[in-house]
Amino acid sequence: MRLAEVLGQPAAVAVLRRLIAGGRLPQTLLLSGPPGCGRRTTARAVAQALLCSAPVAGDACGRCRSCALVASSAHPDLTEVPGDRDAADEDGDQSRSLKVDMVRDLADRAMETPILGERRVFLIPACERLSAGRGDSANALLKVLEEPPAGTWFVLTAASPDGVLPTIRSRSQVIRLGPLPAPDLERILIARGVPATEAARLAMLGGGSHRDLEGGAGEMPLAELERLLRGGYHGASLAALMAALPKEPDGTESAAGMTLGMVQRRRTRLWLAALRVDLRVRLRAGDAAVADWLDRLGQAESDLAVNIPVRSVLEMLAAPERG
Ligand SMILES: [Zn+2]
Repeated sequence: MRLAEVLGQPAAVAVLRRLIAGGRLPQTLLLSGPPGCGRRTTARAVAQALLCSAPVAGDACGRCRSCALVASSAHPDLTEVPGDRDAADEDGDQSRSLKVDMVRDLADRAMETPILGERRVFLIPACERLSAGRGDSANALLKVLEEPPAGTWFVLTAASPDGVLPTIRSRSQVIRLGPLPAPDLERILIARGVPATEAARLAMLGGGSHRDLEGGAGEMPLAELERLLRGGYHGASLAALMAALPKEPDGTESAAGMTLGMVQRRRTRLWLAALRVDLRVRLRAGDAAVADWLDRLGQAESDLAVNIPVRSVLEMLAAPERG
């Protein structure tokens, strides 16, 4: 993908293109931004622009052999470390820190001459995984980052520069990416196969992250939530809702220091926000009964904001007993 095609990050893209066009792109970049805002897409677009054999105004041409190789993940001078999710598929908990062998291998390869052209690019997503402690995976890389060989770039990504080892952060030029605007989120969701009506509704929820929304899409237990609002306390609905919550933070969330409680409250807020969109539509269509439900949703959202446990919040969501 070309930088010009990256959605929702016009400021960062403009800076990157200026730096690349001027031949001034720092050799170690840290793209930081919330998960799902397009960090890896942007990182790959930077790599393509650097490796392109006929770049235009700091961006890839999209037509040369090098561009085609990057697009098909087959460029011999582009090395991408598996992301936290890819790695999790392969070996579960091991993914939370990068293996020292992998990082040493990467540091070794950085010293080799490029195969196709005169440049090499290394992408290291979720670089919070480079830990100072276990296995010392960072030290192997630090030596290379300190003095990168000519024509070699490292593009790191992280949720926040604060989560990155200070020794790595200090060697990197930080470029911040913002949350995605709703229309861009909607386009990304549609491109990934979410039906258009669902994509529009999800994008309205905001949050700036396609990852959050995709995680929730299709499996949001909104019917169970509505059953609590409509019919009062219902043990099976409550159990289904609790079962639908994440059981542990994923790699990025734990690297960002999020606890299970925070992750569950965030997911619950997403459900409530999705239901709110539905209910508002029904209220406008004349369904007066939902006005009371919206009040209770609002209360539940306030309760979540002051860290009341999800289970209690859901119990209080249930319609009060009559009589
Ligand atoms: Zn090209």
